[in-house]
Amino acid sequence: MDISITKADTLKDRPSDTGLGFGTHFTDHMFMMDYNPEKGWHKPCIVPYGPFSMSPATMVLHYGQAIFEGLKAYRTSTGDVQLFRPRDNFNRMNKSAEMLCIPEIDTEFVMKALLTLVDMERDWVPSEPGTSLYIRPTIIATDPYIGLRASHTYRFFIIMSPVGAYYPEGFNPVKIWVTRDYVRAVRGGVGRAKTAGNYAASLYATEIAHKDGYTQVMWLDGVELKYVEEVGSMNIFFVLGDEIVTPQLNGSILSGVTRDSVITMARSWGMKVTERRVAIDELFEAHAKGQLKEVFGSGTAAVISPVGNIKFHEKVIDIGDGTVGPIASRLFKELMDIQYGKAEDKQGWIVPVNPT
Ligand SMILES: *Cc1c(COP(=O)(O)O)cnc(C)c1O
Repeated sequence: MDISITKADTLKDRPSDTGLGFGTHFTDHMFMMDYNPEKGWHKPCIVPYGPFSMSPATMVLHYGQAIFEGLKAYRTSTGDVQLFRPRDNFNRMNKSAEMLCIPEIDTEFVMKALLTLVDMERDWVPSEPGTSLYIRPTIIATDPYIGLRASHTYRFFIIMSPVGAYYPEGFNPVKIWVTRDYVRAVRGGVGRAKTAGNYAASLYATEIAHKDGYTQVMWLDGVELKYVEEVGSMNIFFVLGDEIVTPQLNGSILSGVTRDSVITMARSWGMKVTERRVAIDELFEAHAKGQLKEVFGSGTAAVISPVGNIKFHEKVIDIGDGTVGPIASRLFKELMDIQYGKAEDKQGWIVPVNPT
């Protein structure tokens, strides 16, 4: 399939690299293609960034049949542009697609589309330390129909947004609130899919956390309300003594690319990393014994997000001495060094975006 390219007549004024924030500016072009049962995925094109026109009956607006991904393009010190593990994102998108009854995409074809798009927009990849071009592949159900069933037609699109450093004032440990009143995902549900409804369902508890001065919610399992699953929309790690522990993937946890990178990297340093169930009570007991050394989240947006304190019922525990622990700091630095091309890519995680 050839990708048709329509260039924008006028290009936008690009925002300066300082003060980009997150997700408010979009590049000049986007990729899209459509699906129907007769033609499969067809009409791939790169067109000027702009609104879609759709019927108010469009199925995604009613039943939330939507999946997305999040990855980044990074500019290296030599001015080159590169992606971090992009195939893992498209493979995960196909896993989400299966759960949401959405037809799968050809990962090598969408890789080619992504490389073409990022190459066209390479001037949009910012250069200031910590900045990047955030990439959002999405699939939505497009039948204009309000009966409940899986849609027959879909649109896949990729939009891109230059984003600022996540920690412009340096690494600040976040405060998290453990809720037993709300859950993010349940056994047999769609927790392991990156699907729109999971995020809509997380907003209410997150607002309650914010009102109480907490940044993120720590989600417990939806069956026993005992075991830690995730923090906000990040995976979670604990340093217990000299071992790193993270909740095992159980169907309701999203399998993060950063999570996998953290596990691989820490093991390559010779550290013991265990994926298992982690009870919230175990963490409070470990803290009482002085064994809970570090807690941090992992995700594409922040890479590593250190946790400063955790509130559960009326009890608040402080992690470490209020500064970022040595393991979180080292993971943050070494992962960023690979992403920005400052360190050797021993795992084959980097895909360069070569100019055509
Ligand atoms: C996207 C996401 C993550 C992190 O995944 P990465 O691939 O590391 O960015 C973790 N949890 C949830 C719920 C997510 O949506």
